[in-house]
Amino acid sequence: MVLLQGMIRALMFDLDNTLYSEKTGMEIHVVERINAFVASYLGIPIHQAHLIRREGARRFGTTLEWLVFEKGFSDPDAYFQAIHPEDEADCVPLDPLLGELLDSLPYEKLILTNSPMEHAQRILRKLGVQDRFAAVYDIRYNGLVGKPHPKAYLKVLEAAGLEVESTVFIDDLPKYIRGYQALGGRAILKDEGRRFLDLGFERIESLYELPKVL
Ligand SMILES: [Mg+2]
Repeated sequence: MVLLQGMIRALMFDLDNTLYSEKTGMEIHVVERINAFVASYLGIPIHQAHLIRREGARRFGTTLEWLVFEKGFSDPDAYFQAIHPEDEADCVPLDPLLGELLDSLPYEKLILTNSPMEHAQRILRKLGVQDRFAAVYDIRYNGLVGKPHPKAYLKVLEAAGLEVESTVFIDDLPKYIRGYQALGGRAILKDEGRRFLDLGFERIESLYELPKVL
């Protein structure tokens, strides 16, 4: 089979701040809970926890990886429970048009998130799109080693029977965009806050721009 250049077969979406607006404040609350968890686990003040975990997360990819691989932490489920309480999705409103938008994109759709499945399911239900994705791949699926590690993208593509060349990846963080580009894939940055205009990525400010750029 000859693969047409630029042919798209699938869309691989990030979840947080990609499928919903960063204006929901969800991320801010999650980060506050992460800082509180780290402060308590390490027995240090919150402002100090904030600084060292940011540095650790930068080196390892996520805060949890840093805790596990450098700080001897061994209870990921307790971590997820603390930072993703059951009512965490209260700040995310239903998006009555999102399902329609996704339906209008004639490609297989999946989710690759560095969060745990229970969080992903809550968000997808709140947005009203829990039935729009062929599969959701979470951080446990990737053995807690998520994006931007090459294996995180590749394992998911293989499981879904997809290839980098024909799968477009959409995420709101430049480091994850770079990770997918490094594998030779097409990646689109959702840059709602117009913070990354100078990075040269293909970018959108809203998911509703997807039909016109794909
Ligand atoms: Mg995100």
